Amino acid sequence: MMGYDENNIFAKILRKEVPCETVYEDEKILAFRDIQPCAPVHVLVIPKEAYISFQDFSTRASPEDIVHYFKTVSRIACDLKLSDKGFRLVANTGSESGNMVPHFHTHIIGGKQLGDISGA
Ligand code: 5GP
Repeated sequence: MMGYDENNIFAKILRKEVPCETVYEDEKILAFRDIQPCAPVHVLVIPKEAYISFQDFSTRASPEDIVHYFKTVSRIACDLKLSDKGFRLVANTGSESGNMVPHFHTHIIGGKQLGDISGA
């Protein structure tokens, strides 16, 4: 696997070189609004450590950090008031997924009736 690109846009956001609209932050995680939202609520949740992808995160991160990450994704969805009506989680992984930013992130998408995922 290629090394982590320190110049990817989310690395710059973490270093505060690029601004973002933060919705949640702790010592391990940052969540912020997507700059090109595809729904009324579109938030990206990223670990602060340098993981390239979901596969990288799930193989190298500690079990504690993985549990904390996914519990936090769930909590953020709750805080954004998405739990009742529902929402979608997306973690694009690899070139065929259309993944653009090589820092692991989960999209939380909701706030409207979402389209069918086929052909997504
Ligand atoms: P991917 O295709 O890698 O899963 O999604 C990357 C996401 O990052 C896209 O939805 C894109 O709109 C978002 N994004 C790209 N650059 C920036 C940025 O500078 N700020 C924010 N907040 N989001 C960004």
